[in-house]
Amino acid sequence: MHDFDCLMDDFSDFNFNTSTPPIVPSNGFYFQTVEEMRDAMAREREVPFYTRGTNPTVKVLEKKMASLEKAESALIFASGSAAIASAVMANVGKGDHIVSVQKPYSWTGKLFSQLLPRFGVDTTFVDGTAVENYAQAIQPNTKLLYLESPNSWTFELQDIKAVADLAKSRGLLSFMDNSYATPINTKPITMGVDVVMHSATKYLGGHGDALGGVVASSKSMIDKLFKSEYMTLGGVISPFNAWLLTRGLRTLPLRMEKVSTSTPMIVKFLEQHPKVDTVNYPYSESHPQFDLAKTQMKKPAGQFSVVLKTKDSARIEAFCNALTTFKLAASWGGYESLAFPAITFSTSLNYQTNEIPMNMIRFYVGLEDVNTLIKDLDRALSYA
Ligand SMILES: *Cc1c(COP(=O)(O)O)cnc(C)c1O
Repeated sequence: MHDFDCLMDDFSDFNFNTSTPPIVPSNGFYFQTVEEMRDAMAREREVPFYTRGTNPTVKVLEKKMASLEKAESALIFASGSAAIASAVMANVGKGDHIVSVQKPYSWTGKLFSQLLPRFGVDTTFVDGTAVENYAQAIQPNTKLLYLESPNSWTFELQDIKAVADLAKSRGLLSFMDNSYATPINTKPITMGVDVVMHSATKYLGGHGDALGGVVASSKSMIDKLFKSEYMTLGGVISPFNAWLLTRGLRTLPLRMEKVSTSTPMIVKFLEQHPKVDTVNYPYSESHPQFDLAKTQMKKPAGQFSVVLKTKDSARIEAFCNALTTFKLAASWGGYESLAFPAITFSTSLNYQTNEIPMNMIRFYVGLEDVNTLIKDLDRALSYA
C-alpha cells in the first residue's frame, strides 16, 4: 500500500456514494429515543451529538490526518495556534516546566513566554541544533520537550529522534510542530515523538483559503485532549473549512513534489548572488545540517530565509517593493510565492525585534514557474 493511499480513502460514515465528502453544517443531530440520545452523548468523541464535539465532515479530515501521520488518532482545530495551545495546555499545570526550541512560530513563543506563565508554567528556550541543550535545560518539574523542526524564520533543525529518545528516557512528553515538512516528508511519530501538530492553514490546505490546525497522537492522548481543551476552549473548525482542507490534501503530494525541485534551484541562484549574504535552507548542500536534513526530511520543502548584504533599510524596502511575482504577505503554503520582510517587525507587538536581523526576508516558494520566480528575484535584487 502506498503511503498516500489514505488520501483517496472515503472515511465518511455516510454512504451517499459521493465522490467528495458531504458537507454537514448542522450544529446538532436528532435522536429517536432517549436511549439513543444517552448513548450518543456517552460516545461523543466517536458519534455526532453536537458539532463542537464530533461532526461528520470534520471527522473525514481527522481520520485522513491520523492516517497520514501514522497516529492512532487526531483532532482538527480552527487554526494551528488553537491546536498548539490546546495540546500543550492539556498536558501542563501549575508549577510545570517546558523546554522549547528557541524562536518557534511567533504565537507559540507568545504562548510559552506570556500566556502559560500566568498559569504558573514556565519555559526555557534552547538552541535546538544540539540535543545536549535540551538535556541541560531539563529540570525536576519539566513536563515536555517542544520541537519545531525546522523552526520559523531561521529554519534550524532539531535531531527529532534524538530529542524524542531523550524525552522517553526522562519520562517526558515530546511535542513537534510539523507544519514545514508535512507528513509527506517527515513523520515524527515514527521517530518517537508523542504529539504532532500542524498549521493546516499552510501546506495541508494548500490554497490559502481556510485556516485550520491538527493534533495527532495516541488514542489515549487524543481522548484526554478531546475531553479537556478541545471541548472547553472550543477552538473547533467549521465543517466547510474542514471540507476545503480535505480537498486541499488531495494534491499535497503533488505540491510537495513540485517545490522539492523548484526551491533548491532558487536557493542555488540566491547563494551565488553578490547582493546576498546568507540563505537559511536546511536542504542546501552548504547548510551545516544538510546531512541531518536528508535523514529526517525525505525531500526539500519551499521555505527559506535570506539575509541581504545591505543593512540600509531603504535598500531592503526597495528590494521587497520591487518584487512582483513574490507577493508581500504573511502566511505561506498556498499557490502564490510570498516574501515576508523582517523589517516589518519594527512596529509589531508580537516579535522580539532583536532575535531576527532586519535585513532578513522569509520566502515561500509557491507553484509558479521556477524561471519566472528567479527572474523576479534577480530583477528586484538590483535595488538591494
Ligand atoms: C502559521 C504557523 C502556525 C500557526 O498556525 P495558524 O493556522 O496561523 O494559527 C504554527 N506553526 C507554524 C510553523 C506556522 O507557520
